[in-house]
This record gives sequence, structure tokens and C-alpha cells, in this order.
Amino acid sequence: MITVTRFKLYPNKETEDKLFSNLRICSFVYNWCLEHNIWNDSVLPQLKEVYPDVKEVHSIVLQNTVHQVRDNINALSKKKQKGQKVGRLRHKPRHSMIYEQTGFKMDGNMLRLSKIGAIPIIISRPIKGEIKQIIIKHNKTHNWFAIVVSRTNEIDDWFAFRKTYRKPQSFKAVGIDLNVSNFSTDSDGLVIEHPKNVKRAGKKLRREQRKLSRRKKGSRNRNKQRRIVALVHEKIENRRNDFLHKVSRYYVNNYDLISLEDLSIAEMVQNGNSGLSKAILDASWGKFDDYVLYKAENAGKLAVQVIAKGTTQDCSICGKTVPKDLSVRVHSCPYCGSVMPRDYNSSRNINLRGIEMVGWGTVKPSSLDMGRLNTLAEIRTSILDINNPEQVFIDEARISWL
Ligand SMILES: [Zn+2]
Repeated sequence: MITVTRFKLYPNKETEDKLFSNLRICSFVYNWCLEHNIWNDSVLPQLKEVYPDVKEVHSIVLQNTVHQVRDNINALSKKKQKGQKVGRLRHKPRHSMIYEQTGFKMDGNMLRLSKIGAIPIIISRPIKGEIKQIIIKHNKTHNWFAIVVSRTNEIDDWFAFRKTYRKPQSFKAVGIDLNVSNFSTDSDGLVIEHPKNVKRAGKKLRREQRKLSRRKKGSRNRNKQRRIVALVHEKIENRRNDFLHKVSRYYVNNYDLISLEDLSIAEMVQNGNSGLSKAILDASWGKFDDYVLYKAENAGKLAVQVIAKGTTQDCSICGKTVPKDLSVRVHSCPYCGSVMPRDYNSSRNINLRGIEMVGWGTVKPSSLDMGRLNTLAEIRTSILDINNPEQVFIDEARISWL
């Protein structure tokens, strides 16, 4: 896992001068590359020869500066290919520089930077894992920051985890499958539909965007329409966040272990009939996972992301693989005879994998009670207390039970 954390730096006058001079040199290199249409770092030795000042900057920082020219030009040409109107890259002063792998050392409350020196740093939060990159940034309010990008080794995490979270005597675990046809289906049989107001706003957004594309470039009407589109965007964002906060809160309040799919490799959207655009769905899912993960952490609960591969294909009763493509909405197992909605089957697998992952038990699919499937609706209704203010929101999102 990659973590990005920002820490404040307190350079003294001397080191600050060096930082500024480094930024000036990076700006010079950046602009030089832009001007000469070169964005290959093999140009650096020559530059160092012609302009000896360039040597004052750490070589990796210089390389990254050249790479930024390349990245910016690539981003620009991508926009161009999409038919967006783009200007030229302008000469710009650099306000940040990137150290990567080498050239830095964290030494207690000092950050040592090659070619700069030691700078006092306030480590307000522990840095998890190994530091891969440090971005030194000077912002508009004239403060210096180190943005620390670190990567945690999953095995180390594992031991830390085992120490912190002992298996409780009894626990409530749930697996959540996020999908297109509804928002989510969980392993206790709760189905939450996409919020209607977001769906409506999504349709409106598409309508307004179409209008925008018909307006003449540069016209006053076009500018007006652009504002309308931005407003609809904002509305969707607010409503969606509100919904995601409520649903994630519900799970964190009601469960000790919440298992989600690792969305980066999940079976991704093949746009169904949800009336929601792919972009909205993608963003919702990622955000939902984030919300659950941090809310769980704050509440002392556990949330994990399991490998998504096979969650829809495996039978959550007998464990055999039952291949099916995306259009098949029902899991019907020829081996054990179980029949259930596809998303429900996968949420059960997600739950089982989560329990196994945290070491709270090896739940063999077959050890689950088949009879429970039929009584799930009853179980759920008895758990859900609508008079409990924590759960009232459930009225807002349309829910149903399997
Ligand atoms: Zn089966």
C-alpha cells in the first residue's frame, strides 16, 4: 500500500537559500527542455557542462524535472487527441522538486537532503513503511513541506496487524459486493440501491453536457452553460458523498469485520441499466472503500480488501468454480444445487475471504448452513431497528432483502 503524508519543514535561512536556489535551477532546466523540445534526461550531463550551476542540484531531482516536462507534454497531447482545445506549455517557475529512492535520509526530527543539508521536520504522524519519494514543496503561503510517499510491505503489515487485532470471542462479519445493477449487496442479504437523487442528477448532467457541446465556442451562452454543468456536478458530488457516508457508517456501526473487494482489480463496470455513468460509479466505489476503511480504523473495527478474482465464479456454498459471464445474474451451482443472486454469492465469498485473510477462522464454504439462506430475510429484519437513529437513514436509500 502506498501512503502519502505531508510534513512541515523548518529550514533556517541558509538552507532556505539553498532550497530556493535549487528550485531556480530546476525551473531553468524545465524551461530549457521545454524551449529545446527535449525531454530525455540524457541531456543532463551536457547541461551540467555548459551551465555548472546545474550541478548544485541532486541528479535524481534533475531527472525528475526533465520527466515532468515529458509528462506535461504527454498530458497535453492526450487532451489534444481528445479534441480538447489546448494552449502551449508555458515557462513556469517550479515550486517543487522530487527526490526518489536516493538523496534523502530521515534522521529523527531532521530530514537530510543531498546538496541541501539537514532541515528540521515535524513528524506529526508515523510514516508507514519504506520511503520511496520525497517531494519538497514551497507553497503560496511561503511554507515549506515535505510530501512523503511511502510503501508498506504487506508482510510487515501483517505482523503489526496480528499484534493489534486479536481475534475476538465472537464477532459480526460482513462482505460487501459493489455492483452496477444496485449499489451494494452484502453477505447478510441486504441490498442497497443506487440513491435515486444521484441517478436523477446523473441524467440531468448528461443532458446539460449535451447542451454544452452544442453551444458555440467562446459564446456567452456557452460560458453560462458551462457554469450550469459545474453546478450539476457539484450537486451530484454532494448527494453522493452524503449517501456514501451514511452507508459506510451503517456498516462500521454494525460489524466488527467488513470485507470489501480490492477494486483496482475487480471485475469492472460494463455499463448496465443503472442510469449512472461509469465515471460516477467508479468514483463512488473507490470513495466508499476509502470511507469504510478510515471509519473502521477510527472506530477500532476492521475493514479489509480481499482479492476480487473469482468472487463471482466460486460457489459460496460448496467452493466449486461455476463460470458465468457478466450477463448471468443468478448463481446456480450444478455441484451443490444452490441458487442465489450473483451479487449475493460474491458478497458471501468476499466475507469468507476476509475472515480467512485476518486469521479469524478458516470458513470452509461447505460449513455454512444452507437453511440460513431461506431465512435471511427474517434475520435481517430483526437485526435492523428502524427506531434506532443510527439506522434511520436506511429509509432514504432504497433497500431490499434477498
Ligand atoms: Zn455449489
